[in-house]
Amino acid sequence: FNDRGAVKGVATGEMGRGKDGEPKAAYEPGMELHAKYTVFAEGCRGHLGKQLIKQYALDHDASPQHYGIGLKELWRIDPALHQPGLVVHGAGWPLSEHGASGGAFLYHLEDCQVALGLIVDLNYDNPYLSPFDELQRFKTHSKIAPTLAGGERLSYGARAITKGGFNSLPKMSLPGAFIVGCDAGTLNFAKIKGTHTAMKSGMLAADTIMEVLLDGDPGGKDHTHYDSHLRSSWLYPELKAARNFGPALHKFGPYIGGAFNYIDQNWLRGKMPFTLKDHSRDHASLKESSEVSPIDYPKPDGVLTFDKNSSVYLTNTNHEEDQPVHLQLANSDIPLRTNLPKWAEPAQRYCPAGVYEIVGEEAEQRFQINAQNCIHCKTCDIKDPSQNITWVTPEGGGGPSYSAM
Ligand SMILES: Cc1cc2nc3c(=O)[nH]c(=O)nc-3n(C[C@H](O)[C@H](O)[C@H](O)COP(=O)(O)OP(=O)(O)OC[C@H]3O[C@@H](n4cnc5c(N)ncnc54)[C@H](O)[C@@H]3O)c2cc1C
Ligand code: SF4
Repeated sequence: FNDRGAVKGVATGEMGRGKDGEPKAAYEPGMELHAKYTVFAEGCRGHLGKQLIKQYALDHDASPQHYGIGLKELWRIDPALHQPGLVVHGAGWPLSEHGASGGAFLYHLEDCQVALGLIVDLNYDNPYLSPFDELQRFKTHSKIAPTLAGGERLSYGARAITKGGFNSLPKMSLPGAFIVGCDAGTLNFAKIKGTHTAMKSGMLAADTIMEVLLDGDPGGKDHTHYDSHLRSSWLYPELKAARNFGPALHKFGPYIGGAFNYIDQNWLRGKMPFTLKDHSRDHASLKESSEVSPIDYPKPDGVLTFDKNSSVYLTNTNHEEDQPVHLQLANSDIPLRTNLPKWAEPAQRYCPAGVYEIVGEEAEQRFQINAQNCIHCKTCDIKDPSQNITWVTPEGGGGPSYSAM
């Protein structure tokens, strides 16, 4: 930030700090990159975007942001079962059995490949729910399992999505910067599509910056007229038409909410004459573990269903081991003192990579963070009921390296 409180650029990460936080022999400090305007586009729950939204109260007039976790697998299937171009969408099962909501997809791609996945809304209330295991269950459905028979799983991945849409969109300009794409929350949740909207929001930021620079702007200003560019583009009416989709599901559940959405989206094209708002926060939705029954997920068979370890292996995740843990706890006592007794420490289940474990018995118990397995989905930063975990960027180059995802 400059001395007038405007963003003046970004700093690249440091390299070569050890686990203990001390510089190692090969330590290199980060480099500051200054600009008249900086565009933040880190995707869902951006580490910097999150801080900027808070610091400039950019979400002051918006509903709380909502999130889902999207889990995906890529398979090569039997050529006899391949139907290139076939798109299958699902809602309800398996999440409905555990009082949760979300959607599923299976797309037949080229070369006998299919991409399939499950989006789990992160406002679920059962702390025993495991999004990863729900994806494994989804594959056992009678409409899905036959397609995968004799096939081979090629890849696995997971990433949170920002799905609050129109109602949760923060102000996207701030002094010296813009926040675009899923960092702000431009995904159209009714379609679960966010690529085209992210690109458009970035193009509008580029247009705005070009316009003011050609006018001799010295930088560091808050160009609130970005908002009028947004309103006069196709992006605004598209997001507005989808504004009731998430709140309807959250308020009325998958069946009545689904019927509401069918009428609103297909008959009225998003022109329902009122707006539903959802003021709840995803991290505050968990019931205490004493109020619910544990969920007993079936053991993976290693053919159709798999465990977390073999799945993380397919993500090609790699982190320098001797570096500070990039999953930071504000208070290291909270996992065992608060989260374990109240919510059976849900991080053990919502993390799709098995990063968080409670190890040891009774007095020896400790909360273990296997940070090297982290696939950077950001779910812990969102769903921790105590809001105690902050995901920060690890040393450059670390993280999953997805192939063909
Ligand atoms: C399972 C799943 C399926 C989906 N399917 C579809 C679909 O079929 N169609 C569709 O349109 N959308 C789909 N989406 C949504 C789509 O992926 C996103 O809406 C879109 O990628 C958002 O684009 P973005 O540029 O805002 O963010 P991203 O694509 O997430 O890009 C952000 C980039 O910034 C990098 N980054 C983050 N933080 C930093 C930092 N501090 N410093 C430097 N770099 C950083 C990240 O590594 C990443 O490369 C899907 C999402 C999921 C999870
Ligand atoms: S540690 Fe957090 S960001 Fe990393 S994979 Fe697990 S839930 Fe996702």
